[in-house]
Amino acid sequence: MSEGKAIVQLKQATKIYGSPKRQVVAVENITLTIHVGEFVTVMGPSGSGKSTLLHLAGCLDTLTSGEYLFEGMPVERLGKNRLAEIRNQKIGFVFQTFYLLPRLTAVANVALPLVYRGISSKEQQHHAMAMLEKVGLKDRAYHSPAELSGGEQQRVAIARALIGRPVLILADEPTGNLDSETAGQVMALLQTIRQELSVTILLVTHDPKIAALGGRAIKMRDGQIVE
Ligand code: ADP
Ligand code: MG
Repeated sequence: MSEGKAIVQLKQATKIYGSPKRQVVAVENITLTIHVGEFVTVMGPSGSGKSTLLHLAGCLDTLTSGEYLFEGMPVERLGKNRLAEIRNQKIGFVFQTFYLLPRLTAVANVALPLVYRGISSKEQQHHAMAMLEKVGLKDRAYHSPAELSGGEQQRVAIARALIGRPVLILADEPTGNLDSETAGQVMALLQTIRQELSVTILLVTHDPKIAALGGRAIKMRDGQIVE
C-alpha cells in the first residue's frame, strides 16, 4: 500500500438518528479525505458528532445520505458480511474504557481477535506476545487487567487492536481516562506504531493538548467540520 492513497473518503456524509418526528442530526454534510499513513485527530465539544464520525468511518454504522469510500470501495453497496470482514481485518478499534476481559491475561486479551482466524493457539500466542513487546508490555503478559495500570491496560487494548494487522486504527477518546503524562505516552506509542506498522490513525479527543500530539487536527461543532 502506498502513502498518499486515500483510505477514508467521506463525501457530504450525513447521519441522522431518531424517528422522522424527533431527528438528531449527528453528522451533517461532512466531506473528509484521510490518506494512508496520516494521523488525524478530531476535536470538538461533547455531542458534536465525533463518535458518530468514527462509527461511520469504522463501518459500524451507515450514512443517512452522502457517500463513503473505504480504500476506494463504496461502503453503502457492500453487504453485511463484507462489512464485517472489513471491520475484522482492516480496522482496529480503541476506546476510552479499555474493554479488556477481566478473567483473561494481557496476552490472551491481545490474542482474542485471532481466535477466528484459523491459526493454532501456539501461533496466536506467539503473535500476541510480539505485539505486547511492541507496546512495551512483554513483562506484563501474564498479568490480568486488574493488575495493570490504566496506561498499561490501554497499551494492551492497542496491542489487541493491532494484532490483526489493520490498516486503520480508530480511537475514541483513548486517553480520556488517563492522567496527562500517561496520555502523552499513549500518544507517543500511537505515533511510533503509525510509523513502524504504517497504519493510519483517526483519533477523537476533546483535549486540545492531545490533539496537538497527532498530525492533522480537525474541529467539529454541531455535526459539522468547522476547521
Ligand atoms: P460526541 O462523540 O462528539 O460527543 P456523538 O457523535 O456521540 O457526539 O453524538 C452526536 C449527537 O448524536 C448527539 O446529539 C447524540 O445525542 C446523538 N446520538 C449519537 N448516537 C445516537 C444514537 N444511537 N441514537 C440517537 N442519537 C444519537
Ligand atoms: Mg463521543
